[in-house]
Amino acid sequence: MTEEKENNNKPFKYGMSLRKYTAALLFSWTVIIAVSLLLNIKHHRNTMFDTARIQAQTLIEKDLLYRRWNAGHGGLYAFVTQETQPNPYLEGVVSERDIQTPSGKELTLINPAYMTRQVNELGKLDKSSFGHITSLKPIRSENAADPWERSALEAFEKGVKEVSSLEMIEGAEYMRLMRVLIAEKRCLICHERQGYKEGDIRGGLSVSIPMAPMIAASEAEVQSEYVVHFVMWLFGSLMLGIGLIKLERKDKERSQAEEQIRHQNDLLNNILNSMTHPFYVIDANDYTIKLSNHAAHLEITEKNMTCYELTHNRNTPCDDSEHPCTIKRIKETKKAVTLEHIHHDKDGNPRIVEVHGYPIFDSNGNVSQVIEYNLDITERKQADEDRKLLNKELQQIIYVTSHDLRSPLVNVEGYHKEIRYSLEALSTILKEIDIPEDKKEKIAFIIDKDIPESVKYIDASVVKMDALLSGLLRLSRSGRTELHMEKIDMKRLVSDVFDTLEYQFKEKGASHEAGELPSCTGDDKHINQVFSNLIGNALKYFDPLRPGVIKVSGYKKDGQAFYCVEDNGIGIPPEHLDKIFDIFHQVQRGKGGEGLGLSIVKKIVERHNGKVWVESEVGKGSRFYVSLPV
Ligand code: ADP
Repeated sequence: MTEEKENNNKPFKYGMSLRKYTAALLFSWTVIIAVSLLLNIKHHRNTMFDTARIQAQTLIEKDLLYRRWNAGHGGLYAFVTQETQPNPYLEGVVSERDIQTPSGKELTLINPAYMTRQVNELGKLDKSSFGHITSLKPIRSENAADPWERSALEAFEKGVKEVSSLEMIEGAEYMRLMRVLIAEKRCLICHERQGYKEGDIRGGLSVSIPMAPMIAASEAEVQSEYVVHFVMWLFGSLMLGIGLIKLERKDKERSQAEEQIRHQNDLLNNILNSMTHPFYVIDANDYTIKLSNHAAHLEITEKNMTCYELTHNRNTPCDDSEHPCTIKRIKETKKAVTLEHIHHDKDGNPRIVEVHGYPIFDSNGNVSQVIEYNLDITERKQADEDRKLLNKELQQIIYVTSHDLRSPLVNVEGYHKEIRYSLEALSTILKEIDIPEDKKEKIAFIIDKDIPESVKYIDASVVKMDALLSGLLRLSRSGRTELHMEKIDMKRLVSDVFDTLEYQFKEKGASHEAGELPSCTGDDKHINQVFSNLIGNALKYFDPLRPGVIKVSGYKKDGQAFYCVEDNGIGIPPEHLDKIFDIFHQVQRGKGGEGLGLSIVKKIVERHNGKVWVESEVGKGSRFYVSLPV
C-alpha cells in the first residue's frame, strides 16, 4: 500500500500531556485560590482598620462636638465630689469657678478640657476606647505627649491634619488616631496665657480604640474565608480530577479505537497486498489513483498517476467503444460495473483484463471514488477459445462416429441375416451329401450350434452398438441443433411426459404427481427431452421394495425458474454424485441404458444458461434440480 503510516506513540504522548495539563491546571487553580484568600484576608484587615479608623474619627468628632458644646456654654457646673474637685488650672482664669446652690451645695465649673479628661479616664477604667488631649506645650504635665503623639504633633506643625496607625499599648493592639486642635476664640480664655492666638495649632486630640474585639470578629471572618476557599479549592480539584479520569477514559477508548483501526488497516493492507490482482481506489473526478496494492506496481511509478496513464499508457481517459471508461460508466449508472479492457502490464505486454468497478458515494450521493480491481483473463480467454475449438472438434467426431458408423453397422446387421440363410442352406446340403457319419456330426454341430451362437453375440453387440450410436447421435444433436426459444407452459410439458410414459408407469405400478410449476423460457423439444430423461430415470431406477412415487415441483426466484424431479427409488451412492452427469457414467453397468441420458440433460440445460444438480440418498430416493431462465 502506498499510504503513510500513523505515528504509533501518539496516544501514549497524548495521555502523558493530559496529566501534565491537569497538573498545571491544578497548580494554577491552587495559586488562584491562594491569591484570592490572601486578597480577601487583606480586604478584611483593611476593612477592619478602616472601621477602627472611622470609629476613632467618629469618637473624636463627638468629643469635639461635646467640647464645642461645653465651650459654647462657657463651661458647665457640676457638684464637687471626690472625683470632681475644682479645676486648679481655672483658678484665676475664670471668675466664679466655684459657686453654691441656694441650698448651699458646692458647684465647680467644668470646662471642655476637664470634661474630656474625666470622660477619658472613665474610658480607661472600662478598658474601652479612651482619648487624650495633648500638646507640645501642655498646661497640665499629665497632658504631655507620649512618643507616638509627639511625632503626630510634629506632623501637625508641617500641615498634616490627622494621623492614625496601629500601635501596641500595654501589650494590646490599639487603633490610634490623632486630629489637630486649632485654637478657637473661646479656647483662648484658658490658653491665651500660653501665647496662643486664634487659628494656631494648639495640640491634638487623640483616641485609642482597642483592636481586640475587631480582630476577634475579623479572625472569625478570615476563618470562614479559609473554609470557603478550601471548599472551593477542593471542589475545583475534584472537578479537575473527575475531568482527568473522564478524559483518560475517553483517551483510552480513543486509543483502543485507534489501535483497532490500525489493526484493521493492517489487515486490510495485508488482504489487499495478498491479492494477486491489481486493486485501486481512484478519484472519480480527476482519475488519480489514491490507493493501490502491490500487484498494481504503482510504487515503481510516480505518485498521483491517473488510471488511464498506468493501465492504458494514455494521456486522456478511455472513451472508445472498445474501451468504455469504467469510471464514467459508474458515474452514469451509480452501480457496480464489469467491463473488458486491454491493459498493458509493467513490461508493456497487452493483457485482456476483466475490470470490476464499485462506486463509493459522498454525503450528497455523488460518486466520489471508485474501487477497481482487475482480473487478468488472458489465459482464461485463450483456454475458452481452445475449449470452444475442441468442443467443435469433439462434436464433429461424435457426429461423424455416430452417423457414419451406422451404415457399416446396418451392413453387419444385413449380412448376419445372410449368414443365417447360408447356414440353413449348408445344413440342408449337409443332410444330402454322403460323408462319414462322424464328420457329418461335427460339421452339423458347427453349422447348427457354434456359428449361430457366434452370430447371436454379433447380433447382441450390433444392437448394443446401435443403441450407443443412437445415444451419441442424440447427445451430438442436443448440442448442435438450433434452439427455438419460447415461453414454455411447464405444467403442460410435464403432463405430456407423464402421458408418454404412462405405459411404463402402469407396468411398474408407480404413481406420479405435479405441483404448481412456473413457466420458463426455452426450446420446447429440448426441455421435453430433459424432463423425459429425468422422469424416465426415476422410473428406471425405482426401488422394487416399495411402490414408486415420482413428484415434480417448482418455484420462481430471482428471475429463475427452479424445478425438482423427486423419486423414492434406489438412490445414488455419494461417491457417484459428482460424476453422474459425465458421459457414459453409470452406477451399475448392465442395468439398461448407456450412461448418456444425464449428459444430454446437462448439455441442454447449460445451453439454456441453466443449471442441473442432484441430491440423493441410497435406499431413500433422489432429487434432480433444474434451473432455467423465466
Ligand atoms: P442411463 O442410460 O444409464 O440411465 P443416465 O445418464 O441417464 O444413463 O444415468 C446415469 C446413471 O445415473 C445411471 O446409470 C444410474 O446409475 C444413475 N441414475 C440416474 N438417474 C437415477 C435415479 N433417478 N435414481 C438412481 N440412479 C439414477
